[in-house]
Amino acid sequence: MVAEVIIDIQNKQVNRTFDYLIPSALEGIIKVGFRVKVPFGNTKRVGFVVNIKEETMFDGRLRYILDTVDVKRVLNEEFVELAKYISENNFSFYATALQTMIPTALKIKYKKIAILVNKDEVASSLTRLFRNNELSIEGLNDETRDLIYAEVKKGNIRLDTKLKRVRGEKTITMVHYNPLHTNKPTSKQGLSLMEFLEELNEDIELSLLLNDSGYSRSVVDTLAKLKIVEIYEKEIIKDEEIVVTDKPITLNPRQKAVYDSVELNKNQVYLLHGVTGSGKTEVYMRWIKEVIDSGKSAIMLVPEISLTPQITALFYARFKKNIAILHSRLDISEKYDAWKKILNGDVKIVVGARSAIFAPLDNLGIIIIDEEHESTYIQQNNPKYNAIELAKIRAKTHNCPLVLGSATPNINDYYEATNGNYKLLELPNRANGRPLPKSEVVDMREELKHGNKSVLSESLARNIKDCYKRGEQSILFLNRRGFSSFVMCRSCGEVIKCPHCDVSLTYHQYRDELRCHYCGYRTSNVSLCPKCGSDKIRFVGTGTEKLMDAVSKLIPEARIIRMDMDTASKIEDYENTYRNFKNHEADILVGTQMITKGLDFENVTLVGVVNADLALQYPIYDASMVAFNLIEQVSGRAGRALKDGKVIIQTYNPEHYVIRAASQHDYLGFYKNEISKRKMASLPPFTSLIEIMVMSKVPKEAFKEAKLISERLKALKDGSIILGPVEDRIFKKNDIFRYVIQIQAAGEALLEQIKLIYPMYQNDKNISLSITRE
Ligand code: ADP
Ligand code: ZN
Ligand code: ZN
Repeated sequence: MVAEVIIDIQNKQVNRTFDYLIPSALEGIIKVGFRVKVPFGNTKRVGFVVNIKEETMFDGRLRYILDTVDVKRVLNEEFVELAKYISENNFSFYATALQTMIPTALKIKYKKIAILVNKDEVASSLTRLFRNNELSIEGLNDETRDLIYAEVKKGNIRLDTKLKRVRGEKTITMVHYNPLHTNKPTSKQGLSLMEFLEELNEDIELSLLLNDSGYSRSVVDTLAKLKIVEIYEKEIIKDEEIVVTDKPITLNPRQKAVYDSVELNKNQVYLLHGVTGSGKTEVYMRWIKEVIDSGKSAIMLVPEISLTPQITALFYARFKKNIAILHSRLDISEKYDAWKKILNGDVKIVVGARSAIFAPLDNLGIIIIDEEHESTYIQQNNPKYNAIELAKIRAKTHNCPLVLGSATPNINDYYEATNGNYKLLELPNRANGRPLPKSEVVDMREELKHGNKSVLSESLARNIKDCYKRGEQSILFLNRRGFSSFVMCRSCGEVIKCPHCDVSLTYHQYRDELRCHYCGYRTSNVSLCPKCGSDKIRFVGTGTEKLMDAVSKLIPEARIIRMDMDTASKIEDYENTYRNFKNHEADILVGTQMITKGLDFENVTLVGVVNADLALQYPIYDASMVAFNLIEQVSGRAGRALKDGKVIIQTYNPEHYVIRAASQHDYLGFYKNEISKRKMASLPPFTSLIEIMVMSKVPKEAFKEAKLISERLKALKDGSIILGPVEDRIFKKNDIFRYVIQIQAAGEALLEQIKLIYPMYQNDKNISLSITRE
């Protein structure tokens, strides 16, 4: 038998398969989706088996597979197909796509063991090697190994994997890779570890590195000295015993109608448009229940930020042991345990963020994607993929429904619902019968005219005070962290920029530093202008820190907390702040878009959108949609329980259709306006957009290659509109210069051409490509 193998080589991937002979000892053991060790050139490589066939079309002499890496199937045909789809449609590499579908633990070297199942059936010469019916098959000679494989085929021996783990400790030592490091290790081991961690792209337990992957402690320490890695102690936090009483809820008539509209056992995409608090989650849980009662399984995707301990507890309370919740608090071994349970069919429901779409569940009965408008469902790199797109494919494969839920659906999805490709389901009212909060739009130009230069309008200031006096809580949303947006010299006009990027630095008061929000560069604050030496330094614009100052001046005795990437970069910090605010240990919550979603606080009656215009200015084609979503989602935090809520939106563009529609919770009004604009401008969903970014440390080289690519594409003359290359809006980022080519309405010929172009730069040291498709 012959196996088609995708070779997994870092930095040098080839998107084609290579044929290898399967040795007879491994025939019947190796299946599609297994990883195998193969000879490649004069090295040994790991590859994925993506097909098994009788014969090869290859003319030369085939080489043999050396051994299997996996002892059990880690991926099946469905995932092999999915990976192929990702590599072909998202301009990524097949091997990277396959890698992304398996848990991290499997990428670390782990122990393969054989377990005796029928001792009496196996020759004693073989059983003698076992201790407690277990035998590590690493380091056995080929002959013994083949004997074991023969018994595996007869069912007398079972193969399994073992991951060493530390239990019962209060902390674990973790290793964090610093992507911004500037040093390079000199030893071969050091380089290998650095590349391994770079590829891994997540923090890893030190013990896994030492015991399972075979790196020495001194190598890790060397990398730590070079600031390439950071070694830290992570506290093991036990999931608190959160007691959630799963109160029985009777669906209201609207919910019941929505619930009944979905035909299980049939492939169809549904768009559930339900306002914030309309009871979507309850309906999701009913569908899931029905699906598992019929013996099938279910996947539900939610944004990571929604996977709070509260929500997790609610799902555990309802579904008990039948569910795996994949949240980022799980470490590598816990994720592996969960994955094994899913693979073995011990759980039937998987709830998780984006990557949970790869949960190896069989027999899917429904896939649900909550907050489907969220951009977090798109992974930007290594490999690029859109979880919603993959969900559609999986739903089709399993002939089951896919439900996309949102209070503010993505324009493209709503369009699909109006043209009949999706079925539209609607929940226009809050489940508890409460009205949506009333909104007031404040024209900040008028405030200026009346001499109010503060970031808080007179009305917002008054409302915050009143809210505080009533003993209620308020949320203030400002989508910019730090103190100011930029630092400027009033004498010469110089704006202080990042030395590595084409962006201005932001002042962060609590550390008295200037920071780049793009590359992470930090430097101490300046008191004199670096250009003219003047001391007239001004902090322009308002970030969350300055807003907090303004609020504490307004009500000095109020307890104010801030939530943004500076204060809550770790999920634990986010949850602490969440709990504090929920328990009313603070009166006012100030924060960036982190606070716009998922928070369900009974006592919040005021929401302030401090600068509604920020999002409107994003230089992306769907900026209006992002702005509408943010305002509408954050508004939804107000007045969720018994007390009425109020929203105050501060803007310099009160007439803008986004502001008007958001202040009236008028999704449909916004949609109609937006879709006609997109039609006129030939934007998605009326066309597809592709952006090719060509990057290099040397601007000339980037331009030269970008020009070549653009000419090659223009020569096709297939009716696509090809613009550029032009300098990207942020031309230099992290010392890399970026040119973009924009393509509208790409035809098939053009797509095929791009598929040929992107691997060409894979081995190029000077040039890299990133291709995005809308
Ligand atoms: P959504 O997901 O649409 O934002 P949720 O499912 O979180 O809304 O529901 C909001 C609140 O309404 C929750 O506290 C939930 O328990 C409650 N709820 C849902 N359905 C009903 C119902 N039929 N009757 C009463 N309360 C309900
Ligand atoms: Zn100056
Ligand atoms: Zn920078």
